[in-house]
Order: sequence, then C-alpha cells, then structure tokens
Amino acid sequence: MKEKRRKKIEDILSRTNLARLRALFVLVFFVEALFLFYVERIRLVEASGEEHTLLLTSYLLHLLLAVLAAAIVVFSHKLAKTKGSGWIDFRKRFTPIAIFVTLALSATISVFDQITTGHIIIFTVKLLVFGLVLYVRPPWQWAVFGVPFLVFLSGLVIFQEDGAVLLTHLINGTAVFAGVMFASHRFYVHKHYDLHYRMTLKRLNKRLEKLSTHDSLTTLANRRFFERQIRYELAINKRYNQKASLLLIDIDHFKKVNDTHGHQVGDDVLVELGQFLRKNVRESDTVCRWGGEEFMLLLSHTDSAGAEVLAKRLRQEIENRLFLEGKTDISLTVSIGVTELSLAGEDPFKTTYETIDKALYKAKETGRNTVIVE
Ligand code: GH3
Ligand code: MG
Ligand code: MG
Repeated sequence: MKEKRRKKIEDILSRTNLARLRALFVLVFFVEALFLFYVERIRLVEASGEEHTLLLTSYLLHLLLAVLAAAIVVFSHKLAKTKGSGWIDFRKRFTPIAIFVTLALSATISVFDQITTGHIIIFTVKLLVFGLVLYVRPPWQWAVFGVPFLVFLSGLVIFQEDGAVLLTHLINGTAVFAGVMFASHRFYVHKHYDLHYRMTLKRLNKRLEKLSTHDSLTTLANRRFFERQIRYELAINKRYNQKASLLLIDIDHFKKVNDTHGHQVGDDVLVELGQFLRKNVRESDTVCRWGGEEFMLLLSHTDSAGAEVLAKRLRQEIENRLFLEGKTDISLTVSIGVTELSLAGEDPFKTTYETIDKALYKAKETGRNTVIVE
C-alpha cells in the first residue's frame, strides 16, 4: 500500500514536471532563437579569420541547444498523453534526463564562452531555474546537477586564463550550485510530504463519509443517508410527478434468536438479511438499516400496488429460507408495512413515516409474518 502511494506521488510529480518542462523549454527555445538571429548571426557575418571560426562554433552550440529545447518540448508533450506502465516509468526518468543533457550542453557553452565573452550566465541561470522549478528525487540531484557542474568547474579552470575572473566565476558558480542543491532537496521532500498528507486526508474523508452514512454492522445505508435520499426522491417526484414507496420490515420475535443462539448469531442474521434485501431489490432502490432489527426500503418509480407485490414476495422468501444455513439454520419471519411516499404537507416524510409505522403495527397486531398496506 505504501509502495503504491509512493508510486502514485511520483507519477503526479512526473506529470507536474512535464508540464513545467514544456513551459521552460518553450522559453529556452525562443531565447536561443532570438539570440541566434539577432546577436550571433550578425556577429558571425561581421567576423573573419580565427574569430569567425570561434563564433561559428558558438553559433552551432547555441543552435544545438535550440534544437534540443524544441525536441524536449515536442517529446514531453507526447509523453504527457501516453499510457502504459513502461511509458509511466520513462515519464519519471525523462525530466532528469532532459535536465542533465541540457545542463551538460549549457556547461560546455559556458566553458566555451570563456574564450569569447567570458560569461557563465548560460549555465548558472539554467542551473538555478531547473533546480527551483523542477522536482528531482533525492539523491538524484547529485548526478543530474552535480555532473554538469563538475564539467563546468573543470572547463573554467582550463579555459579561463584571467585568475581574478576565474575566482569570481568559481565563487559565483559554487554558490549557485550549493543553493540549488539545498533548495531542490527541500522542495522535493516538502512536496512529497504535502501530496502524501493530502492523499491520506482524502482517504480518511472518504472513510469518514462512509462511516457517517452507513451502518457499520450491515454496511447498508443508515438513517441519516436514507433520510437524505428520501428528500432527494421527494424533490424528483414532485418535479416529474412520479411515485415512490416505502417498506418497513421488522423481524418477528428477533429477541428469541438472540436469547437462544446468542448476540453474535443475531448480528450475523442481521448481516445476512441485509444482503438478502440488497440482492432482491433494484439497483436504484435504497435499503437502509433503520434501527435494531428493522429495515426500511425506498422503492423508486413504484406505487403502493407494486410495492405490495415486492413486500409479499420478500416475506414469502424470507419465511422459506434458512439463515446461516449449514451452521445454525435459523428460520425467520418478518412483518412488513407498506405505503406510498406522500408528497403532501410541510414534512412529507414525517407523514409517510407515521402511516408506515401504523401499517407495521397492524401487521404485528394481526399475528405477524404478514404485509399490511396503508
Ligand atoms: P417483534 O418485533 O415480533 O414484536 O419481536 P422482537 O423480539 O423482534 O421485538 P423487540 O423490539 O422486542 O426486540 C428487538 C430485538 O432485536 C431486541 C434486540 O436484542 C434485538 N436487536 C436489536 N438490534 C440488534 C443488533 O444489532 N444485534 C442483535 N444481535 N440483536 C439486535
Ligand atoms: Mg423492532
Ligand atoms: Mg422485531
């Protein structure tokens, strides 16, 4: 279960990464394209000799970065839509790979820039932005950010000939790297915790909702849920002029079952009867444990004549079957009150309940194991 949740969190993070990756690399592409067209191209046209060769190399490196950015945009767009477990795994790896390749190329460009402009901005800005915007699972940051950083550092030492500039670059680069490593780690851990917390909360809320609306013994709807359902049914029936009926079922002499076989057997019988009722009504009907050994059924689109037919069939089948068959073999009978759901008055359910309670009382009065329609 824990492993499943961890995988789910990683999947969520990989999707977030893909969306951010796309936005970032669209930006990278346009910056590079503008730089190539308005700066590098003009410089290249004006240069000659050895300078021309250097600028051409720089131009090609930036062109490669622009093409890489475009490819990452297209691929991450495709990857966001793909399904299948193999792709899901690849989706998780794609962001670190994209970061690694781009940073390695940017480090190379920054090192090359030491011969021409002397800037380190291409690498440090990307390092900073990727580290603060994308989630990389610890300890992978060390490989994803660290290896390009080592390329950058060693390149600086080799190609920057001015000692003072080299020192400044080393200090600035290391400061950015250290900050990025720290922030990236914190962001990932914090986000992971946050998602985990939210998922737990969602799961607990679901369980709480189930607990507050269902009976814990029979797992049927409880009174609270049932009354909500009735209000909904009343609104629909008023609007569309439809009918619904209620059945109130009470087990006859249930006390005897408890007294003879014990409370646990009594509980098991209630569970079985609940399942029996659930199986013998329509999917659209609601079965509720009204209390103790009483069950209430809400039958949608059913008038009292239809409800009576069902009530008689249920009564008959309950009388004919054995509960806990093969174990305790218990015979039961039930008394059932039937009435149509009243649409009139201030509180239609109250009126209906009084009627059905009367019907059940009559059924008990007339000797039990019977159906009375009011
Ligand atoms: P009748 O309805 O036919 O008048 O008789 P009865 O014995 O069924 O009715 P009564 O209301 O006197 O007793 C209901 C019994 O249902 C008493 C109680 O022990 C039992 N009961 C109610 N809830 C539960 C439950 O959750 N588990 C078990 N095992 N028994 C329960
Ligand atoms: Mg009772
Ligand atoms: Mg009873």
